[in-house]
Parts: sequence; structure tokens; C-alpha cells
Amino acid sequence: MLKSPKKMALVFFPAYDWAISPTHPEREERLLYTQDQIAEEGLLDIEGIREYRPDIAVERDVERVHFCVPDVKSRTTESHMISAGGAIKAAKLVLSHEADCAFALVRPPGHHSMRVVHGNRGFCNINIEAIMIEYIRDAFGVDRVAVVDTDCHHGDGTQDIYWHDPDTLFISLHQDGRTLYPGSGFIDELGGLGAYGTTLNVPLPPFTSDDGYLYVMDHLVLPVLEEFRPEIIVNSAGQDNHYSDPITNMMLTAQGYAELNRKLSPHIAVLEGGYSIEGALPYVNTGIILAMAGMDFSHVKEPDRDLQSFKPQREIMDYCRELCGKLTVLWEHRRENAVRLRGVNRYDEQARTIFYDTDGITEYQQERLRLCGDCPGSWVIDSSSAETGYRIRAVHVPRKSCPDCRKEALGHFQGASKSDFDRVFLQDRQDKIFETR
Ligand SMILES: [Zn+2]
Ligand SMILES: [Zn+2]
Ligand SMILES: [Zn+2]
Repeated sequence: MLKSPKKMALVFFPAYDWAISPTHPEREERLLYTQDQIAEEGLLDIEGIREYRPDIAVERDVERVHFCVPDVKSRTTESHMISAGGAIKAAKLVLSHEADCAFALVRPPGHHSMRVVHGNRGFCNINIEAIMIEYIRDAFGVDRVAVVDTDCHHGDGTQDIYWHDPDTLFISLHQDGRTLYPGSGFIDELGGLGAYGTTLNVPLPPFTSDDGYLYVMDHLVLPVLEEFRPEIIVNSAGQDNHYSDPITNMMLTAQGYAELNRKLSPHIAVLEGGYSIEGALPYVNTGIILAMAGMDFSHVKEPDRDLQSFKPQREIMDYCRELCGKLTVLWEHRRENAVRLRGVNRYDEQARTIFYDTDGITEYQQERLRLCGDCPGSWVIDSSSAETGYRIRAVHVPRKSCPDCRKEALGHFQGASKSDFDRVFLQDRQDKIFETR
């Protein structure tokens, strides 16, 4: 019997009964072909690779991360709770040392879901990676986490959730926002002034291919991870960079994905996007599983691969080199740049508009971060939407809050007037109080 060097857990949840619409590309077949391929390749006959059932997330798991408007029940279905629960299960297996690494092959996806949730954005309702991370922080006392998002789209939801968290390094590799949804993820998006530099965006040109992605891994992602020293590395493993994907242009192969995961060696991978259901997902997933389990993946090959050419042009490799150079400078100078940008200000205020493409909702947000020398700083968001009709206030106390930031945040929660807001939320991660009034 074949034995894998690493003990690996697979958690499957195809969500048979949930789809945005019957013909929508984000549907259950995404995982059914993968399950067939995994069976055909005999992956579950390998000693060391085991399949597990997902857990079901509960409302509190969602409330650690999100402000669902008006409440968790209205913004989620059972499928969303099982998808998040699948990610939680994968992490639990790793943290309890039942497995060395785990892959949650679940849907619906989550990386476009931000802190405040008025509806569905980019096929996502709740952020399954963030729900998993805050679960293991709570249950296992995990502190430093890195999320490397290799989905072809910018992980704007995960970025938003960890924008002010210096203990979560978020690196997103994606097709340049000038050429793809959601149109964000540029190199000057580096995180809030209490966590400046722990968000890094790597916008890559169309046709970056395996060589370009692997170059970025070697010359940016791995050195940054080495310096950040996370306890847990999570891969938001979107598979829409594949050359057969119908909505993107990045030209990655299953071999490229497998090699990327061999280099990254994540503790936990969570499936995100990927809409080439027959041509990509079965091969990419097989490659990732073998790579994570420490096994040979050289035979994994799409049936039509020889028909394609995959070497990127020289200009693309030059572009990757230059981009990694710029980002390395921004990373290395993150602390002094943050001090310069903060100046003498006590607060950092931002106003912005967020569009929920799937649901046609526009949200207006006003955010105020307390700039603090002793902690990451508490923040408050006032949010409203004409389409949903809700006006809410969201108050956040960080895990490592100082007494002053916490006190001020609680004042924003208790002091909000009922005539100004339909709902006022408190997300106190320090005292683990998640409350609505
Ligand atoms: Zn990404
Ligand atoms: Zn995607
Ligand atoms: Zn503080």
C-alpha cells in the first residue's frame, strides 16, 4: 500500500441543494467531477490520506468575523454554514494533530465577503477562511496566521476583514484588477495604519502562466512568510487561474498549481473559485492533494494539455521581477511608512462605496479607526444601503486591545442612537462578546 509522507485530511462538501441559479457556474458539479477523479486516481487508498465530514458552523462562528445585516440567519443558508464548517473541520484536524495538513473542498466560496454583509458579492455570502481562522484563534489560541490567496480574483473580502489586523498576513496573487473582477488589489493597498504592510497585493498580467506564479512564490511570498513567521499558513485555493477557465486568462496548469503548493506547503487549503468544472478542477485538485501530502505529482496532467503552449513571454517575466522588487521594498519599509502616514493624527477616517454585484446592492460605509501606539486600534463602521434600507453601526474591539481603545469602542456601541441606526453590532474579540442591539 502507498503511504504519504504527510498525514492529510480531505473535507468534502459539494452543497447539492444550493446554487445562485440552476445554470450559474458556481454549482455543485464543481466538486462532483473532482470526487470522481480522486476516486479514479486512488487517492483515498493511500495510507495517510483520509476523508472527513464537515462540521456545521454556528451563528457565533460567523459573528466573530461578520456584521450580517440584519442578522446571520437572513444572509446565510445551511449550505453556507456547512461550507464554513468544512473549513473549520479542516483546521481542527490540523490543530489537534490528527492531520499534518488539510484541504477543505467545499462550496459555496467566501473570499469576496467583507466585514459588513448586506448580500452576496462575487458568489460569496460569508468568508469561510476568516471564520475558520477566528475559530482556531478562539479554540486553540492560535495567534499569527498567513493567508495566501491564489484565486485568480483579488481576495477583496479577506483583505477587508484583515485590513486592521497586524497578526494576519494577507497576500493575494490575482489577475490585475484593470482586467478582471472585482477591480481592486493594487500594490498600494497595504492595510490600515495599525496593520500597515501586512496586506500585500500582487496584481499579475494576463498570461502570467506557471513560471510567473512560481517566480512570485520564490521571490516574494516565501521570503515574506519567512520573516512574518506565521503559526498557520492558509491557501485560499481558487483554481480559476487554469488555462481552461472560462472567465480568466492566466494559463496555469495543474502542474503549476501542484508545484506552487509544494513550495508554499500550507497547513490548510480552502477551495475558492474555479469554473472549468471538467477541464481543470479534477486535475488541479489532484495535483494540490498530492503536493500537500508530500507525494509525487509529476504524472498529473490534463488530457488536452499538449495542445497548449504555456511559456510566458519575456516581458511577462520582466514584469513579475519588477513587481516583486517593488513589493519587497514596500514590505521592508512598512513600519517607517506607517509612522510617516500616521503623522500626528489620532484617527484615520475612510468613506467608500461597496457594490454587491450578485445582488445589485450598493453599500455606503464610513469607517473610523482609532490610531493607537499600544494596540492595533478599535474601529467603528457606519453602513447603509438604499436597496436593503438598513442603516447599521458596527463596532470592533481587537483581540489585543488596550483599555482606552476598548472603552472608546464600547462608548460607540452603547451611545449609538436608536433613531440613527436599525441595528448596532458589537464585535469584542478581546472579551469574546458578540452582541446586537
Ligand atoms: Zn487571489
Ligand atoms: Zn476567483
Ligand atoms: Zn489601543
